[in-house]
Amino acid sequence: MHRPSNVTVYRDVRPMGARPVELVVVDGVFAACVPDGAVAEVVDGLGRIALPTLVDAHIHPDKTAFGEPWYSRRPAAGLADYVRGDVELYEAQPTRVGDRALRLLSHAAARGTRAVRAHVDVAPAYGLDPLDGVAAAREALLGVLDVQIVAFPQHGVRRLPGVVELLEEAVRVGVADVVGGLDPAGFDGDRQGQLDAVFGLAERYGAAVDIHLHDTGETGMGPLRDICARTRALGLAGRVTISHAFCLAGLAERELDEVARLLADSGVALTTAALGEATVLPFLELGERGVLVGLGSDGVRDAWSPFGDADMLHRAHLLGRCVDARLDEELDACLALAADGGAALLGLPAVDFTPGSPADFMLVEGECVPQVVVDLPPRAMVVRGGRIVARGGVPA
Ligand SMILES: [Zn+2]
Repeated sequence: MHRPSNVTVYRDVRPMGARPVELVVVDGVFAACVPDGAVAEVVDGLGRIALPTLVDAHIHPDKTAFGEPWYSRRPAAGLADYVRGDVELYEAQPTRVGDRALRLLSHAAARGTRAVRAHVDVAPAYGLDPLDGVAAAREALLGVLDVQIVAFPQHGVRRLPGVVELLEEAVRVGVADVVGGLDPAGFDGDRQGQLDAVFGLAERYGAAVDIHLHDTGETGMGPLRDICARTRALGLAGRVTISHAFCLAGLAERELDEVARLLADSGVALTTAALGEATVLPFLELGERGVLVGLGSDGVRDAWSPFGDADMLHRAHLLGRCVDARLDEELDACLALAADGGAALLGLPAVDFTPGSPADFMLVEGECVPQVVVDLPPRAMVVRGGRIVARGGVPA
């Protein structure tokens, strides 16, 4: 007979701010009750709110200077300048990329992140060192944080030789789960050539696809339509994401209707990082139209920006600011995007505190979910698979 080996009862906790209950965890998932004969460890939740831990659907842990000496940035006029800045920062760091990534991702986990999709630069300037570094961080965080890795051609796919070969190596050896892309028309200058390469690798190696699209207007919309067409043609629905998709921000309702229908019918998801009012995706409208949207940190204290903290509760707060959230249901939706949008995008089960759902949650002092999204209380406890992995924002 199977005897549960790991039973914990979290007493006096309030899931999503509801009345206090006991949460029973058996072997990493919530259960209705303590199994007969099992001895449970009891943890007192002290009346705190239990929230699902969150999913960072778009982060760049290899680019970060988080925890490093202050880095002063130079002016940048466009993508090419930012890319140069990435290389300068990378070469200036006293700490190796794998250790920087581990430090940032450990911090994210201690702030209540349960999974990330990490876009990691793949370019001749670095070879595969950043990928290997983030892969080592993934290994070190097994059981604490799930890390999905995108081989991301930040310097272009067709703009310079050797990138396609590096991308292929990354997915062939399995260190990357996802093939990335970047502004096929505006930056790479070979719209179909980049998409041929990226989708070719996805097809050959069974990898998912996640393409950065900063281009606006038709320079962005053209590749967006191409990506949808290729996703349908290759039967990749549910395996393709477009990140940022700034060309969708600010569309009139009729145009948004049309593009949302195309994305939903093609099974192409989106991520937004809530970087500002002008570029944030209209996630509520997209969600109502069946488009899957995830929320992410994007760069954290890197060459592009001194800001960012890889704290997804803070990111939900910033999202609320960007969309001018005011009503409780609007603030609730910001948290739900951070929790459920990213989980669906990464193929993880949602955390809803019902029996069978993963026991991945955090405890915070607070009154109700909208107030927590506004006030950002410390994460008193972070639980992964029923096990406490951090207390007070520090790994346990
Ligand atoms: Zn990015």
